[in-house]
Amino acid sequence: QFPFGRRLPCDIYWHGVSFHDNNIFSGQVNKFPGMMETVRKITLSRAMRTMQDLFPLEYNFYPRSWILPEELPLFVAEVRMMKDRNPSWKPTFIVKPDGGCQGDGIYLIKDPSDIRLTGSIQSRPAVVQEYICKPLLVDKLKFDIRLYVLLKSLEPLEIYIAKDGLSRFCTEPYQEPTLKNLHQVFMHLTNYSLNIHSGNFIHSASVNTGSKRTFSSILCRLSSRGADVKKLWSDIISLVIKTIIALTPELKVYYQSDIPAGKPGPTCFQILGFDILLMKNLKPVLLEVNANPSMRIEHEQELSPGVFENVPSPVDEEVKVAVIRDTLRLVDPQKKKRKDTHLLFHTHLLIFPTQVQSLHARIAGMKDKQHKHHSLKLSLKLKFYLKLGLCQGVEQAPEGSEELPEAALPSLCLKQVFPKYAKQFSYLRLVDRVAALFIRFLGVKGTTKLGPTGFRTFIRNCKLSNSNFSMAAVDILYIDITRRWNSVGIDHKESGMCLQAFVEAFFCLAQRKYKSLPLHDQVASLIELCECRLAALRGKRLVWGCG
Ligand code: ADP
Repeated sequence: QFPFGRRLPCDIYWHGVSFHDNNIFSGQVNKFPGMMETVRKITLSRAMRTMQDLFPLEYNFYPRSWILPEELPLFVAEVRMMKDRNPSWKPTFIVKPDGGCQGDGIYLIKDPSDIRLTGSIQSRPAVVQEYICKPLLVDKLKFDIRLYVLLKSLEPLEIYIAKDGLSRFCTEPYQEPTLKNLHQVFMHLTNYSLNIHSGNFIHSASVNTGSKRTFSSILCRLSSRGADVKKLWSDIISLVIKTIIALTPELKVYYQSDIPAGKPGPTCFQILGFDILLMKNLKPVLLEVNANPSMRIEHEQELSPGVFENVPSPVDEEVKVAVIRDTLRLVDPQKKKRKDTHLLFHTHLLIFPTQVQSLHARIAGMKDKQHKHHSLKLSLKLKFYLKLGLCQGVEQAPEGSEELPEAALPSLCLKQVFPKYAKQFSYLRLVDRVAALFIRFLGVKGTTKLGPTGFRTFIRNCKLSNSNFSMAAVDILYIDITRRWNSVGIDHKESGMCLQAFVEAFFCLAQRKYKSLPLHDQVASLIELCECRLAALRGKRLVWGCG
């Protein structure tokens, strides 16, 4: 915290909510520009839809979703069609307001006509999604998993997954949805923030009982029942990698806009919270990605009516402290410049023994009741520092010592999954290549939308216009798609074509050019053609330049 303003550049900047600082020119920031926007329910659903169109089997871990209000007619029509095809299909849907969190405004419906059109939907867009009716139950309760994922770098892509996560339980025994129980949130929604208000919520001192447990304790139980937990982990790893691959195109557009290539700027990393539901057959389903997962390691306890106290939560501590500690270890600038004489990491991040001593002293001086709450907070802070391994107690880390106490830390809880498994997943990075074309023609750095001239230059340089597809038709395509996207998009600040609109235009062009192929092959062929023509153009320009 910098109450008097910040002067010296830091190695690591830890922002509370989002990337928002234009005055950082070096170091590493714990947030990516645009991450909040990219993981909103609607944007995530759109990105997933694009991937489902290209790779239906690979992306079947995300429930079928429709965006409201714009896709309401499509939702109604598709449900009707599926019901006609299969009259025994009795689906349930979940409606989630865009930008909502903690279960806010969520409700279940049995029929599209039950969507509450008055007020909220018009003013607040939402996603309606197929409801997973047969989740895996433990102790007859529905639960979901919060997994922590570190996106350490976007280019090159580096992803780490925490070996343990949290399992958050409902507080009413689960029953498949019926008209009678649809509104029972303690039965259907696993949000901690909702269930904490149920009389049945159990705060447990143990990590394998109660309403919040470690995911590893669930895996142990599943394993003892004979479940293939190795396969489950590998499915979860695939889900995480594929989801991040779906998000990277948009993130790259924001990144180049906020941190233009070639100019001094920080690099970014971010801890994401993945919410995953396990189906009865152990298939993991992605519910959402949280750009700002709670890192609280304490919870409120009501001592007497209306009087609350923060008490440590062992389950949260076990999982979250390890995630933060290992994130700091992985982004440790000291690793890169071990031999540097300045030891910046020590001066900026390490908690000095003198601070530890001062915390001890302050806690010792707060014996009376009045200060109990404050002393508890300080004890927690001290415990947290010690757990993080940022300080090692007074004796072990003498001030000015040159070596980080790395050896004393437990082994990493964050496991690298990308580029480790890059070979298996790289073929999915098609939209990334479309985004690279988009970024190339953005022109002036600092924008996220393509103007009409940029789009024309793209068409011209890639030689996509011909007698059947005139430049006038190109302009019409640009105007049509851009207008539609700008009327539904959340970012009205800039005019022009956003990435998702460009992707749609690109798919249209691919379909025109390679009519007989499946969509994936159409898109892949057009990407190759564009990349090839641009490379040839660059080659020509180099030759002319030399001449
Ligand atoms: P929020 O951001 O408000 O928490 P979520 O998308 O996480 O919204 O949904 C809230 C809860 O609703 C989840 O934790 C989960 O228990 C339940 N839920 C969400 N989507 C589905 C779904 N498609 N099928 C079954 N349950 C779901």
